[in-house]
Amino acid sequence: MSNRKVRVRFAPSPTGPLHMGGVRTALFNYFFARKHGGDFILRIEDTDSQRFVPGAEEYINEALNWCGIKIDEGVVESGPHAPYRQSERKAMYLQYAEKLVAQGNAYYAFDSAESLDELRKEAEANGGAFTYNYTIRNKMQTSLALSADEVKQRIANGEQWVIRFKMPENEEVVMNDLIRGEVTVNTSTLDDKVLFKSADMLPTYHLANVTDDYMMEISHVIRGEEWLPSLPLHVLLYRALGWEKVMPQFAHLPLLLKPTGNGKLSKRDGDKMGFPVFPLLWKAPTGEVSRGYREDGYYPEAFVNLLALLGWNPGTDQELLSMDELIEQFSLERVNKSGARFDPEKAKWFNHQYLIRKSDAEVAAQFSSILSNKGIAVPTNKVERIVSLVKERANFIHEIWEQANFFFEAPSTYDEATAKKFWKEDTSAVLTEVVLLFQGITPFMATDIEPKLKDFINEKGYGMGKVMNSLRLSLVGASKGPGVAEICEILGKDETIARIEKAKQILG
Ligand code: GLU
Repeated sequence: MSNRKVRVRFAPSPTGPLHMGGVRTALFNYFFARKHGGDFILRIEDTDSQRFVPGAEEYINEALNWCGIKIDEGVVESGPHAPYRQSERKAMYLQYAEKLVAQGNAYYAFDSAESLDELRKEAEANGGAFTYNYTIRNKMQTSLALSADEVKQRIANGEQWVIRFKMPENEEVVMNDLIRGEVTVNTSTLDDKVLFKSADMLPTYHLANVTDDYMMEISHVIRGEEWLPSLPLHVLLYRALGWEKVMPQFAHLPLLLKPTGNGKLSKRDGDKMGFPVFPLLWKAPTGEVSRGYREDGYYPEAFVNLLALLGWNPGTDQELLSMDELIEQFSLERVNKSGARFDPEKAKWFNHQYLIRKSDAEVAAQFSSILSNKGIAVPTNKVERIVSLVKERANFIHEIWEQANFFFEAPSTYDEATAKKFWKEDTSAVLTEVVLLFQGITPFMATDIEPKLKDFINEKGYGMGKVMNSLRLSLVGASKGPGVAEICEILGKDETIARIEKAKQILG
């Protein structure tokens, strides 16, 4: 890499909640910046006022924050290139659009929306698509076709105009992408994109993006593949503006694909298959609510880890990587060219891995808030013991409740299938003997209960499964949970016996 300081930016448009693909883009930028001792900049690209959504910018900041991304320069942090919101940089862009016109790289166009619409419809009727390019620009209402005086007059009269890039005809633009390698595009396949509009005196994405990357001394542009088609225009803009020497290097990240592998991952896939596509819960101004990874119970470390492995791998089979390890091991060379299929089950697996690696004390503290919401008060050491027994069976903290609820409330119903299978005519009598046995075990510890229960079953010649399963059903109400002896110890002798008696009454 050259000795230029690494400066990358994440440049979302505040048009709604950040998609998980956007978070992955932010993360890859962040890993890259930190790995190379560079800066990570958050720039808000809000020049499309029609698509602006209130709350989206706050959402972006909060989501990056939740993921543990530390922003060096941004709207909140400020920095040497402030402001970092494009709408506040408004005054800077027109001069570059005008420069392009003066140089002959761009031109004014006065075509009305209606006339463009008509041309579009006409082209469609003829089975084609309307492209504003070298074939028609001289026939349109443009400064290329009109006299200089007329152009001036129209502008002075307050007529609406746009500035369009004059895409050269039949030129090969050779570009280098750090992930895809050399990419060549013939300019005749491209159209004359609008760079600036008089309607709001704002630049479009292309001009604002290139200008700001230049002004903010961005060294590497790492963004989603959907922006690759814009790259030739961007490269030509750098050239035309005389900035080619400091043009950033480009890396276009592969798309995130649906779980089926067909097509881009969308919010609808999430709704259909029951997984979030947004980092945080989002309440749209319309009232619509979309679920988020955070609210669904994901740990930010797990979310970061699973996103990092969508389209990148460390080259080893290590799957669990902390933020520091990701920064250490990240490289653009290991980013794939092809799309990354998202697997919602694997996402849960990641959270499970992080959950089981947390100390019992930490998991217990998190689980305690669920308990207190239910009005259940239990000593901390007991909660720790319980989570240590069941956390292996949970992907999320809230699933611990489903695994451990019977520790806190006696079963009021008994799983029918289990009862049918294990509760036989003599079960009540056998359990009466078990109660007798339990009464003699003091202190009532799993290490004692377990061997004594086994000896008892063996001596009596009862089936191990029959006794243990009916005992479990009495204590739990279902065929789930950790070892029976552990359950007995945690419940305590009195509660254990009370539950057996109750089950005998109801099932016997
Ligand atoms: N504002 C663009 C977006 O919303 C930024 C694309 C880029 O990084 O150049 O994704």
